[in-house]
Amino acid sequence: MVDGRVGVVLESIIARSPGEPEFHQAVIEVVGTLGPVLAQHPEYLEQRIIERICEPERQVLFRVVWQDDRGGVQVNRGMRVQFNSALGPYKGGLRFHPSVNLGIIKFLGFEQTFKNALTGLGLGGGKGGSDFDPKGRSDAEVMRFCQAFMTELFRHIGPHTDVPAGDIGVGGREIGFLFGQYKRLANAYDSGVLTGKGVGWGGSLGRTEATGFGAVFFLSHLLASRKRTLDGITATVSGSGNVATYAVAKLEELGARVVAVSDSSGTVHDPKGIDLALLRQVKEVERARISEYAERRTGSTFLRGARPWSIPCDVALPCATQNELDEQDAKTLIANGCLAVVEGANMPSTAGAIALLQQARVAFGPAKAANAGGVATSGLEMQQNASRERWTFEQTVGRLAGIMQDIHQTCEATADEYGAPGDLLLGANIAGFRQVADAMLAHGVV
Ligand code: GLU
Repeated sequence: MVDGRVGVVLESIIARSPGEPEFHQAVIEVVGTLGPVLAQHPEYLEQRIIERICEPERQVLFRVVWQDDRGGVQVNRGMRVQFNSALGPYKGGLRFHPSVNLGIIKFLGFEQTFKNALTGLGLGGGKGGSDFDPKGRSDAEVMRFCQAFMTELFRHIGPHTDVPAGDIGVGGREIGFLFGQYKRLANAYDSGVLTGKGVGWGGSLGRTEATGFGAVFFLSHLLASRKRTLDGITATVSGSGNVATYAVAKLEELGARVVAVSDSSGTVHDPKGIDLALLRQVKEVERARISEYAERRTGSTFLRGARPWSIPCDVALPCATQNELDEQDAKTLIANGCLAVVEGANMPSTAGAIALLQQARVAFGPAKAANAGGVATSGLEMQQNASRERWTFEQTVGRLAGIMQDIHQTCEATADEYGAPGDLLLGANIAGFRQVADAMLAHGVV
């Protein structure tokens, strides 16, 4: 609950960032859970830590001009929000999607700050991207866009300054083009300037799988604390990109049956369980729509325009994008007896949905804890780059599993400590906040 003083602070933060509803949502969610910690530590309010933590340290906005395959001139907007460097260099992905605007990148950078704190790897928070839409673009067009984007971005980043990675619309192909242009401009092989690199040139084994695997590791701890396992349970997953694909892979490996995946055009319902090889062929190799999957897989159906949440499940993993699970969806999940919702995407559940799930005692794994495996493994990639080592897949995924266990444990212990047992949202927010806030206090008024 937000008390009077904190309410005034919140209002002023919102008023100075008009027209950024996703950023407001993220700030209200975090600050709304800080009541008990602010009561114990008046110095956070005295030193204006809330206002400072909600204000990005730096925001860079820039024009990106490039030529399409027909010689036409295209204009996009690029941005990088360097949110907080109290714990380490700014760290966070780049999103290329037509919906990208400053409010969305700010909410992502804000979330990233606390998520990165929870990894315990000494990472600050940042996020960037562009309204460029890679869909339907040729490899050559994507390359020219990435080169134009990096031509401005390169002066703001560095292995000890700011380390971007992928997010929606930015995968291995884009990171390759971005790294090539950075290397050309900087005249330096700074491996640690980007993560999510190819394994042959500085990338880490296991980074591609990490966000999806990590979310499922988190889910298995969540279930274990309720004396359940993944074996034999039914799961629905939204999305069909990198996070969703490897969540499906790990869920199936651990004995769950995944009956739905989706993309922005609709949902595939596959009661026999998702055929991972076919999913990867359709989405990764062919970059086609998810309806292609339903056409080739007998027994499955395509629900045009629908999200997966009406399909009965024991656990639901929203792994697509922000605000993709609303109050109505939460009611349906509850009515269908869903045990747990674990967020693979960033802020996929609306505030109303979270409130309903928590009231109904559905176990809830908040994004900044549950999807931290991706950025944690980026941290491991940075470690490998710094030491010029290359770890095996088993070493990296073993470290990831340990980090996810620690994050779950930290969230649980913090929720207990602040009188809200089982509230992992509160636990994640307070644990992440305290780390960043204490470092900021130690650094003085900067
Ligand atoms: N985009 C991912 C996230 O939301 C990964 C960021 C990174 O690896 O830096 O956490």
